[in-house]
Amino acid sequence: MALDVIFTNGSIHTQDPGHPLVHALGVHGGRIVSVDEQLPREAFDRVVNLRGATVVPGFHDAHCHLSLLGEALVQVDVSPRAAPTMAELLERIGAAARDSEPGEWVMGQGYDQNYLDGHHPLAVELDAVAPLNPVWLWHNSRHMAVANSAAFAVAGYPGRAGFTVPEGGRVPLDDDGSAQGLLEETARALVSDHLPAKTTRVVAEQIGAAGDVAVAAGITSITEPGLGAPAHLGQSPTDIAAYQLARDEGLLRVRATLMPYLTTLHPIDPTGCTVAQPYPLEGQGFGLDLGIRSGLGDEWLRIGAVKVLSDGSLIGRSALMTEGYVPEEGQDAENVGYLQFPREWLEQRLVAAHENGWQLAVHAIGDGAVDVVLDILEEAQRRFPREDARHRIEHFGVASDEQVARAASLGVVPVPQGRFVNELGDGMARALGERRTRFCYRMKSLVDAGMVVPASTDAPIVDYPPLSNIHDMVNRLTASGAPFVPEERISVDEAVHAYTVASAQASHQEDEKGSLTPGKLADFVVLSEDIYTVDPTTIRDIGITATVIGGEVVHGRV
Ligand SMILES: [Zn+2]
Repeated sequence: MALDVIFTNGSIHTQDPGHPLVHALGVHGGRIVSVDEQLPREAFDRVVNLRGATVVPGFHDAHCHLSLLGEALVQVDVSPRAAPTMAELLERIGAAARDSEPGEWVMGQGYDQNYLDGHHPLAVELDAVAPLNPVWLWHNSRHMAVANSAAFAVAGYPGRAGFTVPEGGRVPLDDDGSAQGLLEETARALVSDHLPAKTTRVVAEQIGAAGDVAVAAGITSITEPGLGAPAHLGQSPTDIAAYQLARDEGLLRVRATLMPYLTTLHPIDPTGCTVAQPYPLEGQGFGLDLGIRSGLGDEWLRIGAVKVLSDGSLIGRSALMTEGYVPEEGQDAENVGYLQFPREWLEQRLVAAHENGWQLAVHAIGDGAVDVVLDILEEAQRRFPREDARHRIEHFGVASDEQVARAASLGVVPVPQGRFVNELGDGMARALGERRTRFCYRMKSLVDAGMVVPASTDAPIVDYPPLSNIHDMVNRLTASGAPFVPEERISVDEAVHAYTVASAQASHQEDEKGSLTPGKLADFVVLSEDIYTVDPTTIRDIGITATVIGGEVVHGRV
């Protein structure tokens, strides 16, 4: 019986320490069956000559909001790349409003006030360019958004007044008591609950659209953090059904691990009795219906960790710090940020999810939130010891040496974003000041502490291409060209390892993928240049010649 295909004459960097560099990969049934001459080429039906090209394992973005990236592709782009000034931002919204029917929502995303002289767009500014349309603009952190007067009116708050600010949120007011337009953290729901509903099919199509651009950038796997709770994260209560529909219809282009949002988990009594307690109790089930938990699924679609946000964003200055942010003109000097949920609420649910076998993935950006989450993870393990849980702290944005050492000793997987240093670095440095910037989005210290450090972009928060992200992990320059803690730079090989092996480990999938090893999935990327020898300042210019998933060329050609 002939085997499927052998890729020959490549410079194949496998990330397998047993055979780090090989020149041939044999593939059968979507998996690697041989390296080099372990099997003769005559054993294969087809031979593909890689013509000396550099090959690395497929990139796995360990924290990528794929469905939100799909949404970004259809909304108005008001990122600093597309709209560098407030005038250009307003011009883009005005143009979209003119193309819409009166009353139709105009939605955009990606603005960053750090590029707009510190100003979030005001409702009255949006009203002037879109008087007949409700307007909703996501801040690029997605932790906040701006609504215009028509949007407030649709939500039941004519005159941008009459609402109650929910706990864990903030709404800056004008002198007359009406909202200025900005809705921070949980206060987003005042208006976002009234955005047009997303059907399962609409979300499935977004997943498809984002998958198309992802495979073209060399992404073969993603982990989507936070689904099913649109008031917090995700698109709709049927997000997992949307992924299943996308797969059924051939729209799912990349392998996906899905993280339900913590608010979708609930007490479940295994005896079948009705559970009346609002909080999970020790010894009681806690999870999704039917007891579904982390690990269910297959190599294309599986349930990963449970995700929750503990705090907010650095550039939005809502992440919880142990010391106040560096105040900007007109800002509160005492602002230390805040938690999104009461600490007790977080602890009870996270400990119960841990007890019930879930992997935890808790967003913590400020060093204050990192402390809170480390305390909770330590308490969970103290009460219900479990080996190799690999609980994750998403972002791990600001962490002292002591916090790094403590997280390493607890076996925590930090999930930082190298690309943040570029797109958000100047704003983060302003918010933190020089002394604390030293501890911001560390990479080398985490690797040196022996931690599993996956690579991720948090797209669409910043741009999704892995080669841009690797470029930033290796170079660590901000958008303005300033060095951003250069001692935290990592090598090209460490960055590729992060994007492949460590991302697989961070979702308990290292037996399936991450390295090009016989028995694992045949997911790899053919590069236009040798990433190991090019000038490191040109890494982002390397092209993706082809992306191969399960032995099939899904983008480009070889
Ligand atoms: Zn995220």
